[in-house]
Amino acid sequence: MTKGLFDLTGRVAIVTGGNGGIGLGMAHGLAAAGASIVVAGRNQAKSEAAVAELVAGGSKAIALTLEVNDTAAVKAMVADTLKAFGRIDILINNAGMNVRKSPDKLALEEWESVIKTNLTSAFVISQAVHPAMKEAGGGKIINIGSMMSIFGASFSPAYGASKGGIVQFTRSCAIAWAPDNIQCNAVLPGWIDTELTQNARREVDGLHDRVLARSPSGRWGLAGDFAGIAVFLASRASDFVTGAAIPVDGGYSVQG
Ligand code: NDP
Repeated sequence: MTKGLFDLTGRVAIVTGGNGGIGLGMAHGLAAAGASIVVAGRNQAKSEAAVAELVAGGSKAIALTLEVNDTAAVKAMVADTLKAFGRIDILINNAGMNVRKSPDKLALEEWESVIKTNLTSAFVISQAVHPAMKEAGGGKIINIGSMMSIFGASFSPAYGASKGGIVQFTRSCAIAWAPDNIQCNAVLPGWIDTELTQNARREVDGLHDRVLARSPSGRWGLAGDFAGIAVFLASRASDFVTGAAIPVDGGYSVQG
């Protein structure tokens, strides 16, 4: 019964923003478990480099250009995935960004841009892949939230709102699409060493050391820390797990 529990051979996964950071860490996990990967990224050169890494490891992978706020591009990406691989089993809504300003300083356009990129795109892309997953007899959707799905942060009003929204959106899909055998879960990363946080570290004095001091694990997270959770949530191993929001943060969020 447990044989092949984590085997993703024959499965097809789309990872948005999968050309670097956490998305690429997850893509490596899925590829190692046997899945074919669509790296759906904005920067095609970066996506092709990510695909080259995956293919060098013996996996099937392609790069598709995707600006997640462009609905037509989302539809084209789904159609191109089906053309290339014939099915979609796994979607990771990972693309995300932040504008670090307090609520009194954040412009409306900045608010809208963060909400669209981090939250609205997850809705648009999930809705676009739902028919293919249903037709395949089931699927797995993994949405990337944040510790700021739970915590407040004075300098990230739109980011926090978008990441809190991701958890509630995940729960809606989990309930609505359970009859289609589609499990939807959210992953809440802690402080992870990626391009996104390299900017934050430049802007916020002492951030690096404060994270180290508070983290029970005593280190920043790495993109590779997301390979295992991706495989678990994309595989048969998690068939009875849906609507969950799982911290992957080295214990940061449970430290009082
Ligand atoms: P990165 O900056 O390395 O990755 C973000 C990815 O999202 C990039 O590939 C970026 O593309 C892509 N992206 C951003 N906007 C768009 C867009 N409009 N259309 C298409 N792609 C887009 O950061 P992380 O790996 O850290 O972030 C991945 C996810 O993890 C995000 O949702 C982030 O909010 C979340 N997260 C990260 C944490 C951390 O500590 N790093 C903590 C909590 C959550 P491009 O390279 O072209 O900009």
